[in-house]
Formats: sequence, C-alpha cells, structure tokens
Amino acid sequence: MALPKTRYAHARQGERRAHLALKRPRLVDCSQCHRPKLPHTICKNCGYYDGREVIKTD
Ligand SMILES: [Zn+2]
Repeated sequence: MALPKTRYAHARQGERRAHLALKRPRLVDCSQCHRPKLPHTICKNCGYYDGREVIKTD
C-alpha cells in the first residue's frame, strides 16, 4: 500500500481537506420532457438522449 512519506500536521489538516467538499450535481433540462437531468446521460424520466429514444419507457 502506498504510504505518505510525511504526515500532515493537525494545523494542515484543513488545507488538505479543502479539496474534499462535495460539489452539487450539475443539472440540465431534458430537451424531450423538460425535466432536470444530469448532462451527457440518458434522461431517467423519458429515456431519451440526443433527441432519440434510447430506453423504452411505457
Ligand atoms: Zn426526458
């Protein structure tokens, strides 16, 4: 297992964790059903991607 050569002092711990914050997921509107969806993914609601039906939903 890879091990760090030097340990982070307690005072530096926050500096290290400054990059660990969770980012809010970006949402775009589906061009088919206009519901929010994740970009570059098939719409969960209507199954469309790039203007065509990828997953059949009924
Ligand atoms: Zn949709």
